Amino acid sequence: MARYTGPVCRICRHHGMKLFLKGAKCFSSCIIEKRRTVPGEHAQARRKVTEYGVQLTEKQKVRSFYGVLERQFRKHFAEALRRPGATGTNLLVILETRLDNVVYRMGFGDSRAQARQLVSHGHFSVNGRKTDVPSALLSEGDVVEVRPTHRGLEYFEVLKASMGTKMVPRWLEVDPDKLRGRVSGLPAREDVDAPVNEQLVVEFYSR
Ligand code: SF4
Repeated sequence: MARYTGPVCRICRHHGMKLFLKGAKCFSSCIIEKRRTVPGEHAQARRKVTEYGVQLTEKQKVRSFYGVLERQFRKHFAEALRRPGATGTNLLVILETRLDNVVYRMGFGDSRAQARQLVSHGHFSVNGRKTDVPSALLSEGDVVEVRPTHRGLEYFEVLKASMGTKMVPRWLEVDPDKLRGRVSGLPAREDVDAPVNEQLVVEFYSR
């Protein structure tokens, strides 16, 4: 399935909540906050939603939040099943430790979509090796940095000045001057601020 390239606010309106798909811009202007009702809200209230429908919607919401295609998402779910512990929490940890998400969380990009593009364009290395795969999963201790030959780009020069003001999750460390960050530990469930019920996603794939 191809990546959705339409207006992302439409996805938030469909789910009836802010999913912060435009990153920083979502804090200054958001259609969800301006409208008192979500389009289709009353029609949805009349429609009987099945258990399957609820689970499917939740799965789509998680996919949209992290910007992951269905095939990749299924791979992440298979990996979550393979790992010990609660599958739902494992899935969220896997999604959080994707390289594109870590680059976003470290403050190198304003949104996950922008972070994914920065990674795809080959601006980053992981543990000293060029990595341009947004879905690459990181582990504790991994170091992510802007490649030396890319640090002089205007985008990163400007970013240096503002990076220090951004909030970084406690499982990540960032050195804005060196345009470098480190995964100091894996996130716990409480570190994941995704507005999702991961158990419904587990139920969806367990049918
Ligand atoms: Fe648009 Fe962001 Fe608001 Fe979602 S949260 S509707 S992407 S501005």
